[in-house]
Amino acid sequence: MTAHAPPKPFTAGDYTTRMARALGQALHGGLDGMIVAPGPDLVWLTGYEPTAVTERLTLLILTPRLRPTLLVPTLERPDVEAVTGGGGLGIVDWADGTDPYHLVSELLKPDGQFAVSDSAWSVHLLGLQAAMPQTRYVALSRRLPMLRAVKDANELYRLSIAAVAADATYDEIVGWRFAGRREHEIATDLARLLREFGHEQVDFTVVGSGPNGADPHHEAGYRMIQPGDAVVLDFGGLMFGYGSDTTRTVSVGEPSLDLVRVHDIVRTAQQAAFEAVRPGVPCEEIDRVARAVITDAGYGERFIHRTGHGIGVTTHEPPYLVHGEDQPLEAGMCFSIEPGIYLPGRFGVRIEDIVTVTGSGGERLNNTARDLRVVG
Ligand code: ZN
Ligand code: ZN
Ligand code: ZN
Repeated sequence: MTAHAPPKPFTAGDYTTRMARALGQALHGGLDGMIVAPGPDLVWLTGYEPTAVTERLTLLILTPRLRPTLLVPTLERPDVEAVTGGGGLGIVDWADGTDPYHLVSELLKPDGQFAVSDSAWSVHLLGLQAAMPQTRYVALSRRLPMLRAVKDANELYRLSIAAVAADATYDEIVGWRFAGRREHEIATDLARLLREFGHEQVDFTVVGSGPNGADPHHEAGYRMIQPGDAVVLDFGGLMFGYGSDTTRTVSVGEPSLDLVRVHDIVRTAQQAAFEAVRPGVPCEEIDRVARAVITDAGYGERFIHRTGHGIGVTTHEPPYLVHGEDQPLEAGMCFSIEPGIYLPGRFGVRIEDIVTVTGSGGERLNNTARDLRVVG
């Protein structure tokens, strides 16, 4: 793997722009603002991620009435200042023994409607509702699903080097022995390699051998991998705060004719879906294209999930490539294309790349070979 320069840090200006965009979208959507608890939205908007998410209320408030304001427990104020470094962000702290919900009620429109981040704990949302009985709330991901969907150049760079690291992990693991080892041992290897190649966090290492491959999210277990198995390898995590997620299906020893055939169908579907990517095409069209290839080959019933999901500061987020999602693709969006065929009791095949939308088409961030690789 060629070494890649670390990304430039995000600037206070980047966060100011994101917070302004978020508030603008909320107001445009008829809301009075946005409240954001610790989690991916807060990281994306401010760069701040508390070391531990606790019962103490931490909340970013975006309303037209005041500059972006982060409400934090007094004891965590130094952590916040160290990360956000002032910028356009106001910080209000609250001390143990005082009522933070009351403090919030003094900042928000008493009968306003607000988007609230998905990661807000119910205890906090209930506390806000009790303190401000006239306020109403909608889920941020429901009302503003595309808030984080279009990536800027720095975000794209992070996603691309995360993909390079995932590709390096795959290129390494296929040279190692599979037969006679247990799924969880391969999973451990994948996690270690992802970290070696630069990931700070590993989110999943699916190793589905033989019949276990027919379960798309199979948790790697104690099954001993055998010659003749198909093995689905699906792994990813975060590198410089941005996600990787790739899947390849390998054959342990010479593949059966059925495996060769099914793998070829999935690869054709994945390629067709990739070629359909360009700005303006609705998300569901990418799903339709992949599904048509698999359905025409007679396996439509065995493709049991959507074709893909967005990726950014998390490994699963909007946009979703699924029937019914008419959101048009825009340049800068990043998502997986991951059709699969799952044959219960026998094997599964899935092929997944992260793809970004360019001005005229799509570009894969994962670039390992997609042919059926034979491993030892
Ligand atoms: Zn998944
Ligand atoms: Zn995956
Ligand atoms: Zn995925």
